Amino acid sequence: MTDRIYLDWNATTPLRAETKRAMADALELVGNPSSVHAEGRAARKLVEDARHEVARTVGVDAASVVFTSGGTEANTTALQPLLQAARAAAPVARLIVSTIEHPSVLAGGRFDAAKIELAPVTPEGLIDLDALRALLIGQAPALVSVMLANNETGVIQPIRAIADLVHGAGGVLHVDAVQALGKIALDVPALGADLVSVSAHKLGGPKGVGALIHASREVQGLMPLIRGGGQERGHRGGTENVIGIAGFGAAIAAARAGLADEERRQATLQRRLEDGLSQRSNVLIFSKMAPRLPNTTLFCAPGARADTALMALDLAGIAVSAGAACSSGKVQSSHVLKAMGVPVEIGQGALRLSCGWTTTESDIDCYLEAWRKLSGVLLKP
Ligand code: PLP
Repeated sequence: MTDRIYLDWNATTPLRAETKRAMADALELVGNPSSVHAEGRAARKLVEDARHEVARTVGVDAASVVFTSGGTEANTTALQPLLQAARAAAPVARLIVSTIEHPSVLAGGRFDAAKIELAPVTPEGLIDLDALRALLIGQAPALVSVMLANNETGVIQPIRAIADLVHGAGGVLHVDAVQALGKIALDVPALGADLVSVSAHKLGGPKGVGALIHASREVQGLMPLIRGGGQERGHRGGTENVIGIAGFGAAIAAARAGLADEERRQATLQRRLEDGLSQRSNVLIFSKMAPRLPNTTLFCAPGARADTALMALDLAGIAVSAGAACSSGKVQSSHVLKAMGVPVEIGQGALRLSCGWTTTESDIDCYLEAWRKLSGVLLKP
């Protein structure tokens, strides 16, 4: 498989060498981190070292980091009606989420899914701040959930401005930062969010590990989703996934070390890809004018079908993702493109290319060449 080109890093990433080493070392440990003997203490040390790495990377105290089974569990835990902002008279009774959230947020956690209120986005995929303001002002305090970076378009939201709006209305802000962590610098205190979800497998860590960051001391009443033996200071029951957590710690430390250079390198690759796409065929790059992750390009060639293109590219040795969903054999626009007002016939041709630290200029050029050959076939009337 080594000659394949993997351009689907927003779906998941390969394990970093540092991650593999840390996980292999952790495999040798027998102890339960809750045990007081030497074996237990050795396992506890791995968990706490990883917690420090996560905390250091995002600028919070280690005590604010609660390990979970991934981004989905972190999101589900955060979305609950018992949260209360320090100055608010009552817990949040409403949930507002943006229309472009990940399905694990759109599901609403412990809120009644039928009562979730939706905050719209602009055609560029940015939160419509006026519409959000209208949902908040003069109404009962709400929990608001907005992602930092979108998994399909890569659009980065103005979280600080959103936090000011939400807090001004006595609400609580949860931010799904799963796609942002490891790709752009993440300074949680500067974001102003109260709760932040992250996941290891988007940055070279293992699948099935993540964290919910309790970023604010102003928010009370957070109830665990999984209750049990009091692990994670009572915030998440269950014996810790020591091997996975050790891998997460090693991955995040490695991601942090080279981040600024890697961001610049990926932005160069993104320009090369997008210039190449624009020169060689009539493509539309979504959210091109919005602040975006440097690794993500969502585009479509009018008239193409994403499912056909994806299969043809796969046969050519290139893994990409469709920015569209297939149900009952019919290709639909993704909910993100729909929310941006993209017509279905355009959205159903959307492809997402997402790069990572092993992506090279030559990978981009191979992709452009494959796309050139394919578009001649795919776009025939
Ligand atoms: N949030 C976003 C924006 C994601 O892209 C994903 C994964 O694709 C998740 C949450 C879920 O994370 P996990 O796979 O760790 O459950």
